[in-house]
Amino acid sequence: MPSRLDDLNGAVFGRWTVIANAGANHNGNRLWRSRCSCHAATERVVRASKLRDGRSASCGCARAERSASAGTIDCTELRAL
Ligand SMILES: [Zn+2]
Repeated sequence: MPSRLDDLNGAVFGRWTVIANAGANHNGNRLWRSRCSCHAATERVVRASKLRDGRSASCGCARAERSASAGTIDCTELRAL
């Protein structure tokens, strides 16, 4: 029975939804075209290993939001002092 573990089509990793097989890179890593769930709906080819271990969980929007909210927390803390 063929394993479907390597078939990530339709899988969701963080904000990425895998939409198509994009082959493999020169190292033999499987690549998947994925679409981010943010309003930009960014599409990018992402390595399977990065999706699986969470190193890539969005097009970068999640990271931008985290630093923005960290700034908000800093301001709140300053006002509290
Ligand atoms: Zn995004």
